[in-house]
Amino acid sequence: MPEKILVPRGTKDILPDEIPRWLGIETTSRKILKNFGYKEIRTPFFEETSLFKRSLGQTSDVVTKQLLELVSQKEDGGFALRPEGTASIVRSYIENSLDKKESLSKLFYLGAMFRGERPQKGRLRQFHQIGVEAIGPGSSFPYLDAEVIALSANLLRAFGLDNFTVHLNTLGTSSDKANFSKLLQKQLKPQLRNLCENCQDRFERNVLRILDCKNRECKAIVDKLEIGDAYLSEESKTYFEKVQEALKSLNVAYVVSSKLVRGLDYYTHTVFEITHSGLGSQDALGAGGRYNDLVSQLGGPQVDAMGFALGVERILLALPEEAKDEGCLDLFIVSLDEALFQKAFQILNDLRAKGISCDISFRMSSMKSQMRQADKTKARYTMILGEDELKKGVVTFKNMKTGEQTQIKMDDTTKMTTLLLKQ
Ligand code: AMP
Repeated sequence: MPEKILVPRGTKDILPDEIPRWLGIETTSRKILKNFGYKEIRTPFFEETSLFKRSLGQTSDVVTKQLLELVSQKEDGGFALRPEGTASIVRSYIENSLDKKESLSKLFYLGAMFRGERPQKGRLRQFHQIGVEAIGPGSSFPYLDAEVIALSANLLRAFGLDNFTVHLNTLGTSSDKANFSKLLQKQLKPQLRNLCENCQDRFERNVLRILDCKNRECKAIVDKLEIGDAYLSEESKTYFEKVQEALKSLNVAYVVSSKLVRGLDYYTHTVFEITHSGLGSQDALGAGGRYNDLVSQLGGPQVDAMGFALGVERILLALPEEAKDEGCLDLFIVSLDEALFQKAFQILNDLRAKGISCDISFRMSSMKSQMRQADKTKARYTMILGEDELKKGVVTFKNMKTGEQTQIKMDDTTKMTTLLLKQ
């Protein structure tokens, strides 16, 4: 027997059964994002590797450990599969001079991201994100930070999730961030030998990352740190207060987590992460924040920006089972012999033309076996066309949930449509 080829580790086939859930999430997202004034943008799945190195930070885990580079293209300067969306969108914003077109570009994306991580539950090598980026001179207002955070919570609620927590913090300006690093180095220095090897390395290169370390000893040390807000300038403190006031006015519940820093270099001021208690160790549903220096760092104008990304696979993991079961056929048609099939086939096509989702059994098996097939499709109704029906010139509709049956004249597809569109 030839050896089977399997799906690459850390990736998944999304089978037809699961597609309705994905479509549900995508449709809901598009509707809400449009309500908030966001427009869709689609960028390539791969970019020059240097884009990610320059934006996410040379020392970030995503760049040092997880970037999936395209080996065969190395001689062209190197390409890598996108590990997240922000860098590509900022690249596109600059390249297409979007700042000349509008003072605030509100962009969203839905799509696959790639990271060479060690796979586990909720951690894949190919996963999907729904993300937004609000970029432009018109973005530097605390109300926008609050609106973006409220949007992420609105999306999660619209998908059917509620047990989530919004964690909020501020890193301040880039010079506040430098103060934050100094403060951490001062507090961690006496403990340096007790940190894991990775964190000893991070201590000099990027001390903020130590706060994200999952190692048990490092976590225990981090838990004891007293951060306070002394590293922040008065302006940054005021900005953060205004963000919080705006969040309260939008009724978004949050907790301030002074040790939340996020793993990527580009964040300044507001950062947030949303966790869900039902997810286990990979409990982040999404995260985001403000990145006021990234556009200029990548060669664009000095404009501010704020965004987030939610992970679709994690949302699906956190959703209760009953919220996932939708998007089945409206109707399954059962007919018992070839002559009846011809009539049934015609009705099928008339109903499809009227926007009803329906299917039929092509095999003329017994009534029992076709009804079993109808059950499997989870169609809301089954239409039966047997000898009795033919004699009376009708078809029978069976509501598969209640078992209730109704007969409708064979040619009255309008009445059939009315019944099938009723929820
Ligand atoms: P990040 O850019 O790492 O903050 O990711 C934003 C969100 O994307 C996370 O909160 C997760 O929901 C999701 N995510 C990130 N990495 C992965 C992964 N490897 N597998 C599945 N989902 C992920």
